[in-house]
Amino acid sequence: MSLRFSRSVLSATASCLTLMACGCRESAGPGPVGAGPLRVVATTSIIADAVQNVGGQHVTVTTLMPAGTDPHNYLPTSADTETFAGAHLILSNGLHLEGKMSSQLEGRTVPNQRAATVSSRLDHATQVLKVDGGAEDPHVWFDVKLWMTCVETVRDELTTSDPSHADAYRANAASYLAELAALDAEVLAKATKLANARKPTAKPVLITSHDAFVYFSKAYGFEVHGLQGVSTASATSSRDTESLVTLIGERGITAIFTETSVPPRGLKKVLDDVKVKYPKLGEVRLVEGPDALYSDSLGPVGTPGATYVGMVRHNIDTIGKFLQP
Ligand SMILES: [Zn+2]
Repeated sequence: MSLRFSRSVLSATASCLTLMACGCRESAGPGPVGAGPLRVVATTSIIADAVQNVGGQHVTVTTLMPAGTDPHNYLPTSADTETFAGAHLILSNGLHLEGKMSSQLEGRTVPNQRAATVSSRLDHATQVLKVDGGAEDPHVWFDVKLWMTCVETVRDELTTSDPSHADAYRANAASYLAELAALDAEVLAKATKLANARKPTAKPVLITSHDAFVYFSKAYGFEVHGLQGVSTASATSSRDTESLVTLIGERGITAIFTETSVPPRGLKKVLDDVKVKYPKLGEVRLVEGPDALYSDSLGPVGTPGATYVGMVRHNIDTIGKFLQP
């Protein structure tokens, strides 16, 4: 008995020393649910907004990546390790959006803690789009209907983690889902109006910094091209730049769109090259600054894109404004 006790003390001491040395508190755990609000950590601001809408006063939400952060390239900090350790529920997007965080997100076994991806209920055969040689496209939030399925997953994860507030989570989700259904109809109506204004030409062409808008284009009837692929982690090749320059020149594109979470230098280079290769082409606008599209992150508090609904509305209104004939 005393030998087992000694071993356990030694083991605990060794663990403490290890934890002190690395500065992490992963094994501490969040404590049981119920002593206060459910503590939720969301990797992106888009997910955090869904959690806040469904969880209301019964949750505290911590967003790991600040507004404007590119999730494809985000490297977790030691402070993030502590944030994870104190969470009852960790929600990420999945589909490799958080490409450099997989070791922190997968295979967690912390007491009183759940970890889930909000995209888990989407059908990989019929709903998740494949691009770039079979890679799955993570930008599911730009088809509002698909995002509604993700919000249902948020609701069910909150309910599983904190059953005592299940009724509130269900009621909040029902009202938020109704708002999202109206948003989906609004985006479709505005996109259809733009397409009709451009007839008899083909679908409106949306050119952006990276391929974040493929779900959007499929749901709402756009042709979309990104300078970079579905992840900004891949470098832009001169071939990518050249093919976009040719597309703009030959199709007479009048506006291309920067994104708030991606530096605009790639698209600026494209425009410089367009001017050299197609000197007689009319002005091609670089949509940037406050007009830049929100892609992989919400905007800071006080901006039109500070919420998911605001972000989607800003994008469709900006696209409509700059692509109208
Ligand atoms: Zn992206």
